[in-house]
Amino acid sequence: MNDSHLPPSAHFKVDLMFDGLSYTNALGAAAEHAFPNFYPYRFLPGEANPTGLPKVTIPYLFTLEDGTLVRVKGNGQSPWRVEGSLDDGYRLVSGGDTSSGKPIQFEPLPRWMTQQTRDGFPMAQAGVSLHGDMAVVNVAPGCDYFLQKGDKGGSLRCVFCAYGAPNERVQHYGQMPGKISLPDITYRRMQETLEAAIGEGEINHIYLVGGSMTDWRDEGERYLEMGKAVQQVNSHRIPLSCGSGALPPDMLQRVYDSGLFDNVCFNLEIWSEPLFAKVCPGKQKNVGYQRWLSALSQAAKLWGKGHVYSAMVAGIELEPEYHMTWEQACDLAIEGAEALCAMGVIPIYSLYWPTGGRDHPEYFNRLRGFFERLNLVYREIRQHHGLTVDPGFMCHRCAYMQLECDMDRGEV
Ligand code: SF4
Repeated sequence: MNDSHLPPSAHFKVDLMFDGLSYTNALGAAAEHAFPNFYPYRFLPGEANPTGLPKVTIPYLFTLEDGTLVRVKGNGQSPWRVEGSLDDGYRLVSGGDTSSGKPIQFEPLPRWMTQQTRDGFPMAQAGVSLHGDMAVVNVAPGCDYFLQKGDKGGSLRCVFCAYGAPNERVQHYGQMPGKISLPDITYRRMQETLEAAIGEGEINHIYLVGGSMTDWRDEGERYLEMGKAVQQVNSHRIPLSCGSGALPPDMLQRVYDSGLFDNVCFNLEIWSEPLFAKVCPGKQKNVGYQRWLSALSQAAKLWGKGHVYSAMVAGIELEPEYHMTWEQACDLAIEGAEALCAMGVIPIYSLYWPTGGRDHPEYFNRLRGFFERLNLVYREIRQHHGLTVDPGFMCHRCAYMQLECDMDRGEV
């Protein structure tokens, strides 16, 4: 039993989320066959570096023996490291003992990621990626909030968002700001890639996401178009979730009536209107907090229990500008969990990873205190409301920065 009373695997997962892994040759070798991490391993000054390079590619995800999924975070100060090999099996070890350790398996690099579509385009860039057994489809990653200016002249993007910039990185999708439709070629490449991914591996959920549009009705139209394109190749009818922003009432009804989506997930990101306005200024200006909540509530009535979600950025409340202790921040998040569950909406808390300037132990201790207590109390709230995460939406095999599924299946 651990001090926090998280189930053992969830507790170990949190250890690894916070501690990360230090570099070994075995970790480097695993990068040759594992799904690649978006973030390279950056060696610390003075850290033993057998590569001679300042940064190297490392694997993205691994699973523990019981299937718990963990994201790889490079950290030259971590007590944890990887030993072993593909043939003999990899193990997580700490300290001087290299012969024992906990067996792990890296998520493999699928074949399709090295292949091309019929028109010679790399499938790895066709708008399909994997998180464990979830395929994430994103053919419109550019977010129009990045282009909108607020009163002080800054962009209206969500303050934590590093992935929605509509720049040259996403130009090949042919997405135009303010325009609903995407080019046919974009859909054809995505469809070919998704078919290949479904054919090759065990995919149990498909999550359709994209950047936001400033007109929420237009965004609904785009999701209808994208959802149809996905379903044309989803012949086994793997559950599909709509990860749009909140939608207006008539559009929500249309999306529901289309029968394209098994679940919806409108990301509120943060509880309380003052924080929402600061953290998500584009969502506040173009939709508004109260309309976002109303859309979630209406969706819960349409799709029913266990099929309506909202991703939350867990721990962003601890940024100094919000002036909260971790206990106050946690109380507020718990208030939000209770209110959302009472509406039939299941929030999903992804650990917020601060960038720059916060990289010191005291901050992480507070963040960890916040994340563990929130998850413990939130499990009771789910139980009280009779809500469980639907296995068609997500499971412990794809939740890499979230604990809900690990908590629900774990033994206390
Ligand atoms: S809505 Fe916010 S989180 Fe989503 S892509 Fe736009 S800026 Fe990023």
